[in-house]
Amino acid sequence: LAAAAAALENTITPPVKVEHTQLLIGGKFVDAASGKTFPTLDPRTGEVIAQVSEGDAEDVNRAVLAARKAFDQGPWPRMTAYERSRILFRFADLLEKHNDEIAALETWDNGKPYEQSAKIEVPMVARVFRYYAGWADKIHGMTVPGDGPYHVQTLHEPIGVAGQIIPWNFPLVMLSWKLGPALACGNTIVLKTAEQTPLSALLVGRLLHEAGLPDGVVNIVSGFGATAGAAVAGHMDIDKVAFTGSTEVGKIILELASKSNLKPVTLELGGKSPFIVCEDADVDQAVELAHFALFFNQGQCCCAGSRTFVHERVYDEFVEKAKARANNRAVGDPFKSGIEQGPQVDSEQFKKILKYIKHGVDGGATLQAGGGQLGSKGYYIQPTVFSDVKDDMLIATDEIFGPVQTILKFKDLDEVIARANNSRYGLAAGVFTQNLDTANRLMRALKVGTVWINCFDVFDATIPFGGYKMSGIGREKGLYSLSNYLQVKAVVTALKNPAW
Ligand code: NAD
Repeated sequence: LAAAAAALENTITPPVKVEHTQLLIGGKFVDAASGKTFPTLDPRTGEVIAQVSEGDAEDVNRAVLAARKAFDQGPWPRMTAYERSRILFRFADLLEKHNDEIAALETWDNGKPYEQSAKIEVPMVARVFRYYAGWADKIHGMTVPGDGPYHVQTLHEPIGVAGQIIPWNFPLVMLSWKLGPALACGNTIVLKTAEQTPLSALLVGRLLHEAGLPDGVVNIVSGFGATAGAAVAGHMDIDKVAFTGSTEVGKIILELASKSNLKPVTLELGGKSPFIVCEDADVDQAVELAHFALFFNQGQCCCAGSRTFVHERVYDEFVEKAKARANNRAVGDPFKSGIEQGPQVDSEQFKKILKYIKHGVDGGATLQAGGGQLGSKGYYIQPTVFSDVKDDMLIATDEIFGPVQTILKFKDLDEVIARANNSRYGLAAGVFTQNLDTANRLMRALKVGTVWINCFDVFDATIPFGGYKMSGIGREKGLYSLSNYLQVKAVVTALKNPAW
């Protein structure tokens, strides 16, 4: 740890320049109406990367006007679906061409390892856009056998102007899950990025236009939640809102939508996902997968396997090995190769995580590894492991959103099912077993939107993702997310002569 902390003193210069810091409205980069800016910070040091235009309600109004015009009068919803699809494919090619530049911006703004941005996330984003590009010309209604002398059909129409509010943990991936299906269906968009990570989306905005996207189809407003975000959720002329972030803000979004124009809402919220290691587990493999399930992305995943339930038969061995694995985790400057963990995104998250670690210690859990800040600058946290965690401890009930693994012991399946389900959340679960009956039982009994069996965090564009209970409303990705961005119109035509 001392060597890792010392290595943090020399910060690597990011291999990219910040080109875009203004809002993207109506196809142009423009200042905020107020002229205000806010700093976006480097999580490795807390230093300013750039000043970014700070959009508020007035800028959201301007963006909605541009999106409305593009929807009501522009070519996007009127061109052939094949043309729309070709623009999205071209955009995916441009993403690949600019892969390293986009990845560097993402890492600089967010703190995640550059190798993760460059080799996993930007390629995944291109894949998501290609997946939805492929859908664009396969979206269509049905003919329906009505009861009378009528020809009945459904038209699947774009919903109009979609408002989309995204978080900072996967800025580009979240952008792709939102923009991909909305664009494939022919909608126009006002996207509000997270105030911690505004940069990569602005470059993406430029590339969308280079690919041929008409002006006003995607408008990007950087800014804060209580101003710009609330203006999106509460806007009278936005036809749908999609949000990813905390459950607390998800409730505000739903309220703002209902108090304004009753726009439909999809929410992808927090979680406290169980990762269940059964008695037949190969302990080494289980430790590695449970480690990945929790520590990936600095623990900043809504679906993080943040309650590691381990069968009593393998518990002691598991705890020893989980501790050793955490102590071996490569933490450091995310631009350095071989780094598994960078800094947390900002000082707020950093302090919140340290507070939870203190709760864990004070509450009587056994601290096996980590437990504090790494180094003295930026927002690095030591990979932390608690054992002897009890279900009612705060570290077992709350979303910590950081590199803190909590290990709980269980005796049998009935018990672990009840305890795993005893949460206000229901986003995901991991199951580690070789026993088919156990796997079948758990996959059905767990009240969650995704069950990963002998794997975790598998996020293909084709697989739907979303939560039960307070983890959200609706599904993103896959075929399922198209319905979030479509209206179904029934058309009934009287037949003069029903015979043929
Ligand atoms: P947040 O919910 O406050 O922010 C997410 C997005 O919502 C951001 O774009 C933000 O600007 C916007 N927002 C905030 N307040 C708003 C409001 N009143 N109206 C409209 N939009 C608003 O999340 P956070 O504060 O960045 O993180 C807090 C916690 O949320 C984290 O510790 C974590 O537990 C959870 N979180 C979950 C996810 C996820 O993927 N589900 C992502 C980020 C954070």
